Amino acid sequence: MKNNFDIIVIGAGPAGSTIAEKTASAGFKTLILEKEKLPRDKPCAGIAPPRIYHLLGKIPEYVIERIFNGYHLFSPSGIELYTGFLKEGVIVDRKKFDYWLIERAKDAGAEVIDNLNANNIIFSKNDNKIKINNNFYSKILVGADGANSIVRKTIGRKYKNFALGVQYTIDLPNEVINEKIGNWFEVHYGHVNGGYGWASPQNNKIKIGLGSTDDKFKKNSREYLNKFVENFKKKKEIKNLKTINFTSHLIPIDGPMEEPCRSNIILIGDAAGFVNPLTGEGIYYAVKSAQIAADSIIKHCHDLEKDDFEKECVEKLKNIKLNTKLRDEVLQNNDSMEKYIRMLKKLE
Ligand SMILES: Cc1cc2nc3c(=O)[nH]c(=O)nc-3n(C[C@H](O)[C@H](O)[C@H](O)COP(=O)(O)OP(=O)(O)OC[C@H]3O[C@@H](n4cnc5c(N)ncnc54)[C@H](O)[C@@H]3O)c2cc1C
Repeated sequence: MKNNFDIIVIGAGPAGSTIAEKTASAGFKTLILEKEKLPRDKPCAGIAPPRIYHLLGKIPEYVIERIFNGYHLFSPSGIELYTGFLKEGVIVDRKKFDYWLIERAKDAGAEVIDNLNANNIIFSKNDNKIKINNNFYSKILVGADGANSIVRKTIGRKYKNFALGVQYTIDLPNEVINEKIGNWFEVHYGHVNGGYGWASPQNNKIKIGLGSTDDKFKKNSREYLNKFVENFKKKKEIKNLKTINFTSHLIPIDGPMEEPCRSNIILIGDAAGFVNPLTGEGIYYAVKSAQIAADSIIKHCHDLEKDDFEKECVEKLKNIKLNTKLRDEVLQNNDSMEKYIRMLKKLE
């Protein structure tokens, strides 16, 4: 049948495209369903530390906005600290980066359907098949559908704690960026409880944002962000900033779920909480969780012994270690953030 697949992936972000590329390369009939029209953008500062190269190899120039040297940290009292990488990372344009990954999946043989909201998922116990929107059938379903995952809800898994990330994209000439920010991702503590503010330099623009779990912030995030931008302008002595757009999105911040699989349904990336709880960084972990889950699928897809598959996948995904301890200690309040930077400063 035309709409019968070995693997259906919901979501064409970095997690979905990566897993589809691997399973399609291994010869499995793979389909990605994406609700947005592609290429689509994703609210994101675009930073990817150098370890991303271990997963993806060379990243093409046209998706890169800027080289990424490391983090420039600011404590609540104004202490500054640079923590750099040995090798450079990249700051990417998410629209182009994500579409590059989709093209890799297509080249490997995956089919992609965009503009299609997967909102009806039925699991049939009789033949272990999954039916989506009464039209697509699959042996395995992958939920790579981000923080608000419908697949996660369908299999009855809950995720506790989300931060809200809000961000302005702002026009700024490269000469000003080079002088005032450079190729550093700026992290500003002390502007919101339970989170931080950032400035991410791009090509002739910057992204300024705030992310936090704090309820007061979640209710008035735009106000907090405007205040942060005013403060940033003062600190950097920049007079005019022309805002291009405002975006916001949830960030899962409680670390990976204990059980990201159920039978032959797997959650990866943001859908399963594969995000660094302290920083909110998730591109690397989306790709990493996708590659791990793909290996289990490739091993078991021909002969789906359900228990083995589910057990192995859960075990392997546990190798991604991300816990909330550091976040809880550092992001409590201004004092704990100050203490953290002072401690890092001593280690310099
Ligand atoms: C403001 C902000 C800044 C960030 N900055 C960074 C950063 O600098 N570096 C970093 O590493 N991470 C950052 N992150 C986190 C990062 O964006 C995510 O961790 C990453 O995008 C996760 O990838 P994913 O593939 O799991 O999900 P996503 O990229 O969210 O992709 C999920 C896809 O699923 C689609 N989808 C959802 N539901 C359905 C459905 N029902 N049917 C079909 N399709 C569906 C969505 O349209 C989307 O395309 C940031 C997040 C925010 C909010």
